[in-house]
Amino acid sequence: MFARMGYSTWPNAPGWTADLRSMLAAYDDQSYGVTVRARCRTCRKWQDFTRRDLERIADQRGMAFSLFNKRTRCRLTTGCHGWNIFGWSNGTWVYPLYSEQQDERWAAHDAERDRALREYAARLVRGGEADRARKAWSRR
Ligand SMILES: [Zn+2]
Repeated sequence: MFARMGYSTWPNAPGWTADLRSMLAAYDDQSYGVTVRARCRTCRKWQDFTRRDLERIADQRGMAFSLFNKRTRCRLTTGCHGWNIFGWSNGTWVYPLYSEQQDERWAAHDAERDRALREYAARLVRGGEADRARKAWSRR
């Protein structure tokens, strides 16, 4: 999964990323130089959270809410059905705000969903063909 992400290292997320309360405190303490970023794996857009963005999430989820190992449907591009994932930075690089294990669970979950959708679509096509065949037969 390292290669897919383009990260050469996968450091442990620092303490200030543990929950929204800690993130807001780190944002207030400018000496950290910290950023939390949302990025879409499908449309590739990204956006850094402002303090107000983090406050809005805290209003909905509470200060103890953690972005770690979370993802949400894309909110960066209207109509995009991709997943937004989160990253943290204290300067130059942006690191994933999820574990390698979580990334693998997401990949497995998405692959299973895609497989189920393909199977469903194939059943619909077969069902449609069967219906057409029955109708064609009944018209004879
Ligand atoms: Zn997107």
